[in-house]
Amino acid sequence: MKKIELFDLNRQYLSIKNEVDQAISSIISSSTFISGEDNQKFDIEFAKYCNAGYSIGVSSGTAALFLVLKALGISKDDEVILPSHTFAATAEAVVNLGATPVFVDVDPKTYNLEPSLVEAAITKKTRAVLAVHLYGQQANMSKLSKIALKYKLILIEDAAQAHGSLHRGHPVGFYSDAACFSFYPAKNLGCFGDGGAAITDNKKLANQISMLKDHGRTSKYYHEIVGYGERLDNLQAAILRIKLKHLDEWNSRRREIADFYNRELSAFYITPHVSSGSVSVYYVYTLRHESRDDVIKNLTKKQISTGIYYPTPLHRQPAFKHFAPKNKLTNTDQIVKEIFSIPVYPELEDAEVEYIATSLVKIAKSI
Ligand SMILES: *Cc1c(COP(=O)(O)O)cnc(C)c1O
Repeated sequence: MKKIELFDLNRQYLSIKNEVDQAISSIISSSTFISGEDNQKFDIEFAKYCNAGYSIGVSSGTAALFLVLKALGISKDDEVILPSHTFAATAEAVVNLGATPVFVDVDPKTYNLEPSLVEAAITKKTRAVLAVHLYGQQANMSKLSKIALKYKLILIEDAAQAHGSLHRGHPVGFYSDAACFSFYPAKNLGCFGDGGAAITDNKKLANQISMLKDHGRTSKYYHEIVGYGERLDNLQAAILRIKLKHLDEWNSRRREIADFYNRELSAFYITPHVSSGSVSVYYVYTLRHESRDDVIKNLTKKQISTGIYYPTPLHRQPAFKHFAPKNKLTNTDQIVKEIFSIPVYPELEDAEVEYIATSLVKIAKSI
């Protein structure tokens, strides 16, 4: 068996090559690289896909998080509650605005923010809760939105890993003030470089984000506020428009593979727990095993690539450790020692999926 990568972006490209090549060459011919027609159309189409009032394409998921928090006025006296078990960008947005990240532990089953611990971490300074939808499953947004309402907090979603997911039948953005997406190439919806979007139903907030991402402009030569240069470019928007049409079918195939893994592996590993009423889009398929490092070593021998999302939680990273909370993040610290992710991308062939599952069963029996 040939080596199976954790992601294989080339396979996806080959499946849509003609359409993508045509779109790219037509943009190069017209030389409309910035603020072009595809930018406008993608914003409309992605907002519609998310059932949101507005979508604002930006230069990355990191930029989306920063600009949303900035537009909502988060600043130095504010505390923002978020998980430690996430990618650094989630906390960077908070810290780069001078605000304080308050790391809270996650639910040991879903690996997402535990609502009761969020409520316990609220202080007079708390302004916002930043929920992360890790591995493709939304955090418990219905509970978090009740807490946000009760304490008059802003609720934001980091949905960089959850394009197309549902919580109680609702898409990303339904329960929150705004949600942020990444179109990093490997994400469920990815472009050919960096890209991201913010969605919201709030017109004023949408206008503010649009201005901030484009130098505070309201027209070509008029700058209302001091902004940033964080636009999504037109080439990326054109590619995203093509891929968006396939997103649901790709996510279904991810679920099909995940369901197969669940059936084959649940006797040997802790398989992903999907809460009732939740639909995961499996950005990655993450297993747990006490001898994680041995399992990975054996998988590598069998030409199967793995990843760890994430091996070191943010409260233990040099960049953020001075924000570590006083109380222990017990679940987070335990989970990061046992988790590993295996290939789940939609273009995997059935034979590869079967080989991965069979190998994992053999490995579990041998260690
Ligand atoms: C990918 C990711 C981001 C950052 O997105 P970029 O587009 O790479 O800037 C933020 N948060 C999470 C949880 C991510 O997975």
